[in-house]
Amino acid sequence: MTESAVILDKGKDKPIRNRHHWIFSGAVRSLPEFENGSILPVRSAEGDFLGWAYFNRACSILGRMLNFDERPPLEALRDNIERAVERRAAFFDASTTAYRLVNGEGDGIPGLIADLYGDILVVQVSTLGMDRLKPFVTDILAKATRARSIYERSHLPSRREEGLPMAEGLLSGDAVGPVEIMEYGLRFRVDVVHSQKTGLYLDQRENRKLAKSLAAGRRVLNAFAYTGGFSVFALAGGAASVDSVDVSAPSIGLAGENCALNGFTGEAVRFHVADVFDFIRDRPLDYDLVILDPPAFAKRKGEVVPACRGYKDIHRIVFQKVPRSCLVLTFSCSFFVDETLFRQVLFQAAREAGRAVSILQRHHQAYDHPVNIYHPETEYLKGFLLFVD
Ligand code: SAH
Repeated sequence: MTESAVILDKGKDKPIRNRHHWIFSGAVRSLPEFENGSILPVRSAEGDFLGWAYFNRACSILGRMLNFDERPPLEALRDNIERAVERRAAFFDASTTAYRLVNGEGDGIPGLIADLYGDILVVQVSTLGMDRLKPFVTDILAKATRARSIYERSHLPSRREEGLPMAEGLLSGDAVGPVEIMEYGLRFRVDVVHSQKTGLYLDQRENRKLAKSLAAGRRVLNAFAYTGGFSVFALAGGAASVDSVDVSAPSIGLAGENCALNGFTGEAVRFHVADVFDFIRDRPLDYDLVILDPPAFAKRKGEVVPACRGYKDIHRIVFQKVPRSCLVLTFSCSFFVDETLFRQVLFQAAREAGRAVSILQRHHQAYDHPVNIYHPETEYLKGFLLFVD
């Protein structure tokens, strides 16, 4: 049935043979008649069968591979989802009740994110192809997990290119409200309906645990604090004080609740609704541990230069103002600013601040956000633990 398949151009089959999920429009020789969002077989110019992908003509990433073998694609999708869910069971004990169950291409499942918060599963669907499979996928997730409710938070700008409206609401189970979860035994209230992302930045869990191990006796600044994840961990690790700064008032409100929920209150636990750039410029920075976890400054390739300027400015000011022997735990979650570039930015900032800065450790996204070795775009979070002397 070669005539109903998508045929790639000569030589353009290599990434697909190497299990990369994306088919760019420039790689395609011919397309059959199809409705956007349909699943079609994919063949090389020589006619070799390569697998199945869903397609959308409106997107520069024309197709996304669901599987690279002869299995019916929905069977492969079911298997991949069940495997992704099973795999997580080995990583987490009862002290952690929130984690990512499905990490898009990282789990070989393009267009689908599923995060578990206690007994509530929050899904994000980024493509038309996956949107059409939503009832099928919801059913698999409901059976593979013990989630009481499955709630959709598909509020992603990328859906516009796909021709999809933003979508939020209950997919199955009971109505959802704020939920309490645990991360390494610490308690967090999560508002899955009104939050950023799906509720928490789960990719930083292991780095929050690291902050706990670094915090004893230290005065801590948690910049870009969101709902206080790093603050709670630092306080649990015995921080002398923690200042949490975020521009979002509701997030800082929840940060306060989360600290209190774990028994951390009093004048050493301080909260600031402020722009981090203003905060670090306007105040002395008498801290022994500074955590910098900004949002992705570069969301597109074209934004890399201004993003690097932003990253450099923050670090220059911090490096200039902190006392000797200060630890700086800093992150970039912009895919387009890779580890090498981020390190160059830190180099420039250190140079301009005139401080001795060394790298003690390198850090990445948590292991429930696996990086697919065949699909490097799944790696985005990088961090450094720095020593400023
Ligand atoms: N470290 C957090 C996640 C941070 S997400 C955690 O572990 O949960 C990035 C946060 O930066 C968001 O909460 C966003 O509201 C905040 N933010 C974005 N721009 C900001 C700015 N200029 N100043 C202060 N906060 C900002």
